[in-house]
Amino acid sequence: MKWKKERQEIVNFARKIYRKGFVTGISGNLSIRVNDNYLLITPKSKCYEKIKTSDIVLIDLNGKIIEGEREPSSEKKLHIEIYKARKDVKAIIHTHSTYACILAAKEISLPLILDEQKDVLGGEIKVAKYAPCGSNELAYEAVKALEDKKGVILAKHGAVTVGKSINEAFYICELLERLSKIYVYIKLIEKN
Ligand code: ZN
Repeated sequence: MKWKKERQEIVNFARKIYRKGFVTGISGNLSIRVNDNYLLITPKSKCYEKIKTSDIVLIDLNGKIIEGEREPSSEKKLHIEIYKARKDVKAIIHTHSTYACILAAKEISLPLILDEQKDVLGGEIKVAKYAPCGSNELAYEAVKALEDKKGVILAKHGAVTVGKSINEAFYICELLERLSKIYVYIKLIEKN
């Protein structure tokens, strides 16, 4: 099995996002681009608490399975289109974390509220126009709203973060969730 290190990284971070409560049940997905044509991605319908390196699926940029016993994530198109549009991106994490989901449900983008955001996230995190889960439209809308930033909110759905490594994508994922929480509280204070 090739790219053992990358498979192990996906497993480690899948467990991390599960333990952090950024995903529940079988939701969310992670991927790493291993070369110009191939990416490793989490499988469909697998709880991250019990995920193994052999569950990770190797696919090409057309979504074809190259190696793996399982079906790739139903959001594979979302990952593929981001990799096609952004040559700088080497890893992607998609979560349904609570505070990012509040913004997603209300379709509110995350403005620049703290200095730490600017350099790390690349600016305001926008909400992609609504499209059903797993659809090609969702992938295209996500790419549009992602622009050259490190994250995007999916309307009525969740969040996607990207990075030069899976470490970076995870760090952005944690930061996006924390900033979303702060912003939700700011909105509450402003109402009173
Ligand atoms: Zn999702």
